[in-house]
Amino acid sequence: MELSIVVSLYNEEESLRELVEWIARALAPHPFTYEIILVDDGSKDGSWSVIESLAKEYPQIRAIGFRRNYGKSAALYCGFEAAQGDIVVTMDADLQDNPEEIPEMVRMIREEGYDLVSGWKKKRYDNVATKNLPSKLYNATARKVTGIKLHDMNCGLKAYRNEVVKNIEVYGEMHRFIPYLAKNAGFDKIGEKVVHHQARKYGKSKFGMNRFIHGFLDLLSIWFLQKFGKKPMHLFGGIGTLIFLIGAVIAIWLIVEKLIAQAHGTVFRPVTDQPLFYLALVAVLLGAQLFLTGFLGELVARNAQDRNRYNIKRII
Ligand code: UDP
Ligand code: MG
Repeated sequence: MELSIVVSLYNEEESLRELVEWIARALAPHPFTYEIILVDDGSKDGSWSVIESLAKEYPQIRAIGFRRNYGKSAALYCGFEAAQGDIVVTMDADLQDNPEEIPEMVRMIREEGYDLVSGWKKKRYDNVATKNLPSKLYNATARKVTGIKLHDMNCGLKAYRNEVVKNIEVYGEMHRFIPYLAKNAGFDKIGEKVVHHQARKYGKSKFGMNRFIHGFLDLLSIWFLQKFGKKPMHLFGGIGTLIFLIGAVIAIWLIVEKLIAQAHGTVFRPVTDQPLFYLALVAVLLGAQLFLTGFLGELVARNAQDRNRYNIKRII
């Protein structure tokens, strides 16, 4: 099998037939052997019966139906597990992604040696205020944090080398950062292709404005995990020690000042009357807490199942 096309869908009954027809039409002039894996993420409309009848007509269709809605990441994860093609393409079901882009993306992976090619909806047909502008800001942040120079990290249309999808674990809402997951797994040849984008034809978007809040928090988590996931003490221990020391120095200073004043018999304010004392107290406590958090983090990391899972590229 040369190509697996993984489509996650949730309540997209109107689009599915057109989608499959479009994929078949777009790939017909090319000699690919391919499968289409439709992952129904617990749709409540008639999506599954449409899939059933499509599967009878198109032998290349395979489908997985969740019992309930788990989210796009879960759907992609299961699609990736099932994918048998040498190259795996993901796309949305809502006819916003254009399957005619697929052959060129496949060519980029095969001939230019990319591990992953991400679509870039340069000209977008979505709501400007709620999507396009926040998305620009969001992508700029993501570029800074991840160091991956993609304009459109969360484009649904992407192509991967099979090993990439088998070596990453998409969960929660991490589908927005698959390129980052890939990079962290050692697949750093990440390319971009400008793709045509269409307005949503049927139904409405399944993600509201909170996508940006969740996306941002997820970005922080994934950054933290990649940087300190295996050595939490390096972060917490460092900051904890620093804050503790600041507190300790202030406290010692206050005591010394008092002793000196006492020795000289000059008037002095009681230590507990001084704002600095409370600052020192807070700093010492906070520092100790952060330090302990680091230890706890180490205990958790030490028990992580994947603590010694490495992505080995070659052996002689
Ligand atoms: N989707 C999904 N599970 C969900 C929500 C969405 O599989 O819980 C699918 C949806 O059917 C579509 C794709 O993910 O195929 C992208 O969703 P949508 O078009 O709503 O997102 P947008 O284009 O607005 O970013
Ligand atoms: Mg869409």
